[in-house]
Amino acid sequence: MGYSASSHIVIGVRVRRKDFFVEKKVRGCRHQNTKDKFCAECGKPTWETKGNYSFNLGDLWEPNEDGISAVAGNCESDEYVIGLDIGNCGGYDNPNILLIKMPSDEQIAKLKKDLEKLLGGLYDENKFGLYNVFYES
Ligand SMILES: [Zn+2]
Repeated sequence: MGYSASSHIVIGVRVRRKDFFVEKKVRGCRHQNTKDKFCAECGKPTWETKGNYSFNLGDLWEPNEDGISAVAGNCESDEYVIGLDIGNCGGYDNPNILLIKMPSDEQIAKLKKDLEKLLGGLYDENKFGLYNVFYES
């Protein structure tokens, strides 16, 4: 494939993949729960910590029904901008200079609502804005 680079203009919020990681305490076995660290019957830990992603960023590689997608900061990066990808320069088929029309206040208001709905508590108004995301692979 070789080298490729592109620049995305995205209106949205910056997130880290690890922000979506949620740890839960779950029982380590099915025996009776005691205050001991390990189960007296089978020796397994009484409680274990299991982690899971509360949100699958892979679902947003293609835009969802609201047009929202996740754009990676780099191919190995933990950082993404989630929002509307309104312009894409570079890469094989894209222009080097692109005129981007300003979104209307209504479009911005709808986007903020959609992002809040999508991200819940991870939506941060302070991180909402216009991002230029440069991607290399
Ligand atoms: Zn047990």
